[in-house]
Amino acid sequence: MSNNEYLPDGCDEEWEFMSRFSLADAPECCICGFKIEVQANGWAEGHNPSPILEHGRCCGVCNDTIVIPARMDILFSALNGGDDNG
Ligand SMILES: [Zn+2]
Repeated sequence: MSNNEYLPDGCDEEWEFMSRFSLADAPECCICGFKIEVQANGWAEGHNPSPILEHGRCCGVCNDTIVIPARMDILFSALNGGDDNG
């Protein structure tokens, strides 16, 4: 009996390939909880999650979709003198 029947076709192989690298002991994203991916340049330590969280590391997806937009918000708020009437 296999519990992997609901995995999409081809997913198995890719997952095995990836876990053979460093996913097994990769740090987990402090925002979404998934393993932090190794980047093309070999960097595997994730990203600074501030201002979302002040501790831990976050994955590239959260960095791009949550952390960066939050920083932009703060930046634009600062540029507007903290006025939120935007
Ligand atoms: Zn994440």
